[in-house]
Amino acid sequence: MKKIKYLRCSKCGRTYDESIPYHCPVCGTVGTLDVVFDIDEVKKELTKEYLLNNEDRSIWRYFPILPLETRKGIAPLHIGFSPLYKATRLEEKLNIKNIYIKDEGRNPTASLKDRASAIGVAKAIELGKTTIAAASTGNAASSLSGFAACMGIENYIFVPKTIPEGKLAQLLVFGSKVILVDGNYDTAYDFCLQAVEHFEWYNRSCAINPYLVDGKKTVAFEIIEQMNFNVPDKIIMSVGDGCSISGAWKGYKEFYELGLIDKLPTLVSVQATGANPVNRAYRSKKREFDYEVPNTIADSISVGIPRNGYKALNALYESNGIAIDVTDEEILEAMTYLARHTGVFGEPAGVAGFAGLLKLVREGMIEPNETVVLVVSGNGLKDIKSATQAVKRPEVIKPNLTDLITYINEEVKGRV
Ligand SMILES: *Cc1c(COP(=O)(O)O)cnc(C)c1O
Ligand SMILES: [Zn+2]
Repeated sequence: MKKIKYLRCSKCGRTYDESIPYHCPVCGTVGTLDVVFDIDEVKKELTKEYLLNNEDRSIWRYFPILPLETRKGIAPLHIGFSPLYKATRLEEKLNIKNIYIKDEGRNPTASLKDRASAIGVAKAIELGKTTIAAASTGNAASSLSGFAACMGIENYIFVPKTIPEGKLAQLLVFGSKVILVDGNYDTAYDFCLQAVEHFEWYNRSCAINPYLVDGKKTVAFEIIEQMNFNVPDKIIMSVGDGCSISGAWKGYKEFYELGLIDKLPTLVSVQATGANPVNRAYRSKKREFDYEVPNTIADSISVGIPRNGYKALNALYESNGIAIDVTDEEILEAMTYLARHTGVFGEPAGVAGFAGLLKLVREGMIEPNETVVLVVSGNGLKDIKSATQAVKRPEVIKPNLTDLITYINEEVKGRV
């Protein structure tokens, strides 16, 4: 059975067979490719019964609609089937009927990127590649690093020198060859492209490699199954390059085409005010991006040139989506708010979506009877420095009870 029909350029719509390794040869690197599956073929295997009887609680249960021929490159790390929590305390507080939280920080290297890296490494092994490279703001890097370590694949990682320590530590502990680039993510990305060409490495950068978004789409498949094939009104995600949100959209569309769900959700794209090229383009109904130097505390979405911008825009236009920007202050506020009402601690980009939800509520853009899914894309422990900016560090006190009583009365209770 041949699952893949063709690869289609997200910019011009031209189609290609799989001999094209990365992007559309006509559009260049902005012409990222969508993997279009032969739904009639896939349908023969991937049915509701197949899913209900499948005991594999990982992304590999979706193998019939993943862009791999063989299972030989599948890492034993457990990816996917992260929990979907019903956030009852938030529902009460925000007066929304149903709020679900998908905790992607529960993946092996603690972010949603693991879904893409799992496919990237498996694909590299399938194609017989021995060295993989990627540019990343941090999470795609630490994720590739972990999967490559697991499968014993040499890898080069290009990251901006401002990468949070937690993510850098992951790379070094996993034993990647780390290229710490003097510049921001945009610089690191272009530099990595140059190096990949020169050294003929396999490129795992999410935008350029057509297959990785198909890893990310599994987040949508899982949400659908975890909600018993019901579809929420809105699905809220933070957006940098645009791979994650277009992945979620692809997932919803494919399950729709397979007849597993009967409607599609509205996408909400949340970007930082200081790095909002996708949202700017969408709001001004454009199909091109203008560059501004990115500036936000949310490093994972600190992107000036959205490398999967067309896929993200297509997804937003098709879903009649909503684009909302949040400030760094709102992101930090959202971090503690979410943690204190759900027990889920996300990194700044991980909670940016929640900052967006708070804003939708404030601006009356959400009805009380709606069902909302919020994807928390990365774990808070990855970036402790930002987290500590959201809170006040306690004073050191002497271990005596009198001092403690005074301290509790004056300090702790006095605090918000
Ligand atoms: C990569 C990432 C995002 C954004 O995904 P894009 O595909 O770049 O839009 C959001 N949150 C976290 C934690 C990420 O690592
Ligand atoms: Zn093209």
